[in-house]
Amino acid sequence: MTRACIVSIGNELLNGQTVDTNTAWLTGRLAEMGIPTAACYTMPDEIEEIVAALAQAEVRADVILITGGLGPTDDDLTRHALARFLGVELELRTDLLQKIEDFFRIRGREMVAANRVQARLPVGAQALENQIGTAPGIRAEKKGTRFFCLPGVPSEMKKMFDLSVAAELQAFGSDQVVVSRKLRCFGTGESNIAQMLGDLMRRGRNPLINCTCGSGVITLHIVATAPSRAEAEGMIGQDRTRLCDILGDLVYGFDDQTLAEVVGQELIRQNKTLVTAESCTGGLIGKLITDIPHSSKFFKGGWVTYSNQAKIRDLSVPTGLIETHGAVSEPVAIAMAEGARKTGQADIAVSTTGIAGPEGGTEQKPVGLVYIGMASAAGSGGFRHVFSQDRATIRLRSALTALNHIRAVLRD
Ligand code: ATP
Ligand code: MG
Repeated sequence: MTRACIVSIGNELLNGQTVDTNTAWLTGRLAEMGIPTAACYTMPDEIEEIVAALAQAEVRADVILITGGLGPTDDDLTRHALARFLGVELELRTDLLQKIEDFFRIRGREMVAANRVQARLPVGAQALENQIGTAPGIRAEKKGTRFFCLPGVPSEMKKMFDLSVAAELQAFGSDQVVVSRKLRCFGTGESNIAQMLGDLMRRGRNPLINCTCGSGVITLHIVATAPSRAEAEGMIGQDRTRLCDILGDLVYGFDDQTLAEVVGQELIRQNKTLVTAESCTGGLIGKLITDIPHSSKFFKGGWVTYSNQAKIRDLSVPTGLIETHGAVSEPVAIAMAEGARKTGQADIAVSTTGIAGPEGGTEQKPVGLVYIGMASAAGSGGFRHVFSQDRATIRLRSALTALNHIRAVLRD
């Protein structure tokens, strides 16, 4: 069975500057083709280190994908390391040099001498076309093991993989492909979801169902292994239906859908408009909503009313309400939403008022306490939440929870 190793190269991957997204992307693509990844190596810009990784990878795999270090600068050493590992010299390929010169000429730029190195390949290796950058990739073979050197820049790497590597590897895929899909949930904790799903999440099950979470969004990954893509998709489809039955309204979407996107689509479908009245979220709900194309179809606008004065002046929150209950309270959240709905002449209004921290909490009103107000034709209501962690997380969770309350109003 064909197995792969990934070797990603660059000092920036080893000092916290750059997250190695290339490896994640490549392992995903290989898995979909039915080629398991045996190991991944992250190496510094040093020839000896890269050669050592190639020697280890060669033992474990028959396809070795290398990313990064193909550029023209002194720290781009992948071609030198591959030549050393293969025991051959680098040779200048005039056809490649011509292409690189053309690349610059077409763009009206001068090619500096340093770029010449990108036309050098290990003797016996082939060039892989780069449609969006200067550096060609490199393909080489050693005793049946295939080596593919791809650029470090993620967009160039993906393009080259799809164009010049995928077709060749397709033939080596095992009779098992791995397909992965996501189910997005909001409104409960990870452990509660795990309890609801019970045996469906057991290890070793196919499809495998596991769970990740961030800012209150619980993502269920359904990973199916099957002899064909169609079969894997079919298995995922069945599981998706089962999970939706069990989790009901906790499921808000699929794959990369965001809460704001789903809420926006539903507002458009129901032909309803929205306004926001934000205190502790400082405009974040408005930002999340206007991230979506066509949000002008349903989003009329919003207020960031941070001070008591702004809440009173812009949203007609009664002064007495703030004096009696405090700005962070359910009655004020409701009054904010009602004021925004009336002034903004919208179908639905949502508001937030809370203590994002790190200071300002008391025993009765701790840091993380957030009230969300809703106003619609069906009436008004307030919801109390206490979120934990830092200021940024509390604000994001508040905004997402507000979106989830809108989703609930649209469902009723
Ligand atoms: P260049 O011609 O730009 O020098 P290169 O093939 O030499 O291309 P690198 O110099 O290693 O590639 O990286 C170029 C850019 O791509 C850098 O911004 C780097 O942070 C990013 N990059 C490199 N490797 C990875 C990786 N594994 N994952 C994500 N980004 C990466
Ligand atoms: Mg570089």
